[in-house]
Amino acid sequence: MSALIFSNRSGNKDVAGMIPFISVKTPSCLTLMDSFLEIEQMGIHSNYGPKNTLFEDRLQGLYFGGQGSCLTVCNATIGLMIAMKMAGRRRTCSVSQRYALMPAFTFAAAAHAAIWAGYTPLFCDIDPATWAACPVSERRMIEKYGDSIDLIVPYATFGNSIDLAHYAALHEETGAGIVVDAAASLGALDENGIGFGSGFAHPIVFSMHATKTFGIGEGGVIYSGNPDHIAVLRVMGNFGFGEPRTATIPGLNSKMTEFSAAIALACLTTMEDVATRRSALADCYFRTLPIDFEMQKPRGHRRSYQFMPVLLPEGCCRNAVREQLSSQGIGTGAYFSPHLMEQPYFSGLCEADDLTVTENVSRRVMSLPLWTDMTMEMVGTVCQALENVLVPASMSRVAA
Ligand SMILES: *Cc1c(COP(=O)(O)O)cnc(C)c1O
Repeated sequence: MSALIFSNRSGNKDVAGMIPFISVKTPSCLTLMDSFLEIEQMGIHSNYGPKNTLFEDRLQGLYFGGQGSCLTVCNATIGLMIAMKMAGRRRTCSVSQRYALMPAFTFAAAAHAAIWAGYTPLFCDIDPATWAACPVSERRMIEKYGDSIDLIVPYATFGNSIDLAHYAALHEETGAGIVVDAAASLGALDENGIGFGSGFAHPIVFSMHATKTFGIGEGGVIYSGNPDHIAVLRVMGNFGFGEPRTATIPGLNSKMTEFSAAIALACLTTMEDVATRRSALADCYFRTLPIDFEMQKPRGHRRSYQFMPVLLPEGCCRNAVREQLSSQGIGTGAYFSPHLMEQPYFSGLCEADDLTVTENVSRRVMSLPLWTDMTMEMVGTVCQALENVLVPASMSRVAA
C-alpha cells in the first residue's frame, strides 16, 4: 500500500507528469558515508551514543532556543507511551478508570499509546476552525468525568501550533498530566517565531517518520522545557534502569540507533530550508485554491507542512474526487478518516463526547500533495485539476 502512495523521488521522475501524495526526501546516502564510517570505527551503535547526544544538543540549541532538553526515541508512538506513563498522577484512590482526554480527530498512535500506558481514551470534539481539540468539548468532559481524567493529550493538528498556555492552565486547575502529540510539528515556529513548544513544562512528542516534514525513516524526539522530565524519560526508555542493570521505574526500550541519529544530524542542517520551502508551497496553495475553499486556520509564525489538508464542499463525494485526481496522476490522502471513534478497536473500548465537528471534518477532509521538491507549477496543476473536478460535481448537486 505504501509503495503506491509514497512514491520516492526516482519513482516520481520516472513517471512523467505524476504528482505523488508524498515524496520522501531523506539525506543522500553519499553524504552520510563519513558519518556512518565513524560509527563503525567507534563501535558504538546505540544506548544514547555520541551522535544521539550531539543531535539532542543541537536540536535544543537551534530549534528550542537553548531551553529545556530533548530525548531521541525510536519512533513517536513509543515516545508517547513513555511520556504518558510518566505524566499520569498515578493516583492510588479507588477510581477504576483513568481517562486520557484527547481529540477524536487524530492518528491511531495517540489512542494506542494511551491504552498501552494504562488509560482509557476519552475523545473530545474539535474546533471547526483549527481542527484541534475544542475547549468547550474539553470543558464538558472535565465537568462530567472530573478527577478520573488523569491525562490530557492535545494534538498540534497537521503541524500547526496550538495554545499551550491553555494546557498549562488546565494542568494547574485539574492536576491532570499533559502530553502534547506534535508528531508533525518539528520545524513549526510559534507565535513568537521560536520552535513550537520551546519552554513548555510538559513533554511534547515529535515524529521523524519518513512521511513527516523532518523525516529520517523511523525516529522521534521528546522535548520538555523541564529537563527533569527528560532525565526520567531517558531512564524509562532504557529499561527503567535507574541504577546499573537495575530497574527502578517502569521501562521499555525506546532508544534510537546511532545510524538514525547520523541521518537526523544531516537533516538538521537543511531543516530551515525545508520548512521555509514547504511554507512557500503552502502559500501558493492558499493563493491558488478557489477562495470559497475551507482550510485549517493557521496559528503561529510558521506551520510545518506534512501535506496540504482542505475541506471539500458539503455533499461532495471524496472518493470520486480522489479517483478522478488519481486518474490524472495526482496522489491524495484522507487524514484522518476514519476518525478514532469510527475505528472498531477504539469505539469498543473508548468513550466520547458529541463529535459533530469531528464527523463533519473527517467526512470532508482531503490531503493534497506538499513535499520539499515539489514545484509551484505542480501546485498549480493540482489546484486546476481539483477545480475541474469540483465544478461539474457542484453543478450536478444543484441539478439534483
Ligand atoms: C505520525 C504520527 C504519530 C506516530 O509517529 P511515529 O513516529 O510513526 O510513531 C503519532 N501521532 C500523530 C498525530 C502522527 O501524525
